[in-house]
Amino acid sequence: MIIGGGYTGLCAALATSEIGAHTLIIDKYNLGNGASTRNGGMFGAHPRVSWDKIRDTFGESVADKIFEEAPAALTFSKDIIQKNQIKCDFNNSGRIQLAWTKNHFRLQQKMAKNITRKSDARVDILEKKELAAHISTEKYFGGIHFPEHYSLNPKKFHDGLINLALSKGARISANTEAKRIDRNNKKWIVFLGNGRSVITSKIIMATNGYTGTNFPWFLRRVFPIPSYMIVTEKLSEHFISSLIPSDKMLVETRSKHSYFRKSPDNKRIIFGGRASMLNIPNEKAICRLKRTMIEIWPEVREINIDYSWSGNTGFTFNQLPHVGQINGIYYAMGFCGSGTVLAPYLGYKIGYQAMDNKRGATAYSLTNLKFNPVNFLNKPYFLNILDIWSRLKFWE
Ligand SMILES: Cc1cc2nc3c(=O)[nH]c(=O)nc-3n(C[C@H](O)[C@H](O)[C@H](O)COP(=O)(O)OP(=O)(O)OC[C@H]3O[C@@H](n4cnc5c(N)ncnc54)[C@H](O)[C@@H]3O)c2cc1C
Repeated sequence: MIIGGGYTGLCAALATSEIGAHTLIIDKYNLGNGASTRNGGMFGAHPRVSWDKIRDTFGESVADKIFEEAPAALTFSKDIIQKNQIKCDFNNSGRIQLAWTKNHFRLQQKMAKNITRKSDARVDILEKKELAAHISTEKYFGGIHFPEHYSLNPKKFHDGLINLALSKGARISANTEAKRIDRNNKKWIVFLGNGRSVITSKIIMATNGYTGTNFPWFLRRVFPIPSYMIVTEKLSEHFISSLIPSDKMLVETRSKHSYFRKSPDNKRIIFGGRASMLNIPNEKAICRLKRTMIEIWPEVREINIDYSWSGNTGFTFNQLPHVGQINGIYYAMGFCGSGTVLAPYLGYKIGYQAMDNKRGATAYSLTNLKFNPVNFLNKPYFLNILDIWSRLKFWE
């Protein structure tokens, strides 16, 4: 049984079904209620943290392996889309990470060197003046460009994965919450929200940023940080390309970073960001994100916002995902806001691991889901303090 029907759960089901397991995916809500249909559709797999930071925590060999695996993960998830002809506005647009400070640009140059030294991924350094071809603002100090990254429509990708999982024989049960899991000899008994229970031989947890208080071991290690998105009204071709002249996905380096792009029909700007560490009403998030947009482009002051939504990212204390098992329960989670490539890829990996198949090997089994004493309660209350701090201190 797989708990959670986002990219991770669906791809875990594709792996287990391929090996011949009878697989049931359950989701607390409709499948796709989580981040997998709510994201910005920026498709790339380079690690969030620097090589040095991974080396300091897990050693040089793990850092090397994680960097080496990034292009393989990108190719793997790209193949899922292309080989199965999933129609999801998949476009090799490339992505630029924009440096918020001079120091960030210096660190980006080091990062780019490590990426080319340690992996086959392509990355180009863009000087400040070169950014003008991609964004009209003086806010950034340079950037790095990942030409191999793609953009997609997240909901269409998720719909495609549902169809694929069903076609491979997986079964799906929506509006079915896993409340508790108990050992039952060599099997598991999963107690459901509807009062029923299911006996299963294997369990995979794929709940990422939506892991609730039912599973405190995971919630203490993978905590939800909301991300908010707004979409502008339709803009004229001339106006939109005066703000974003190219097709690049754009993402900032500042801690409370924004990420933005043109919609697949090139008529609107989709603008996302961490408007708060906690859940706030959409109206408040719209105001905060619009303010940030105006800081970047004062000329957007008068435009309207047509759509807005939010979703949970699942963060870990070392900002790396992990694939593994605890007392025989398999899991892949902790994508820290970068899951369009890694969640499908590591979903497959955990599916293979659950079936004892050697294709499940991944460097992300060499990381861990670290426990931090600040998150010792049954809910991540420390985020309240972090939220206040992040708004008082304008950290970069
Ligand atoms: C606003 C936003 C923008 C983002 N933008 C990007 C981006 O541009 N690029 C990128 O790479 N990544 C992005 N991400 C991150 C990416 O979307 C996620 O990493 C990825 O979708 C995680 O997939 P998942 O399947 O692990 O989790 P989810 O898709 O979140 O699915 C988890 C599922 O578990 C279910 N569940 C939870 N508890 C239970 C239970 N007890 N019983 C049954 N079901 C349960 C939930 O209902 C949910 O459907 C973004 C995320 C957000 C929120």
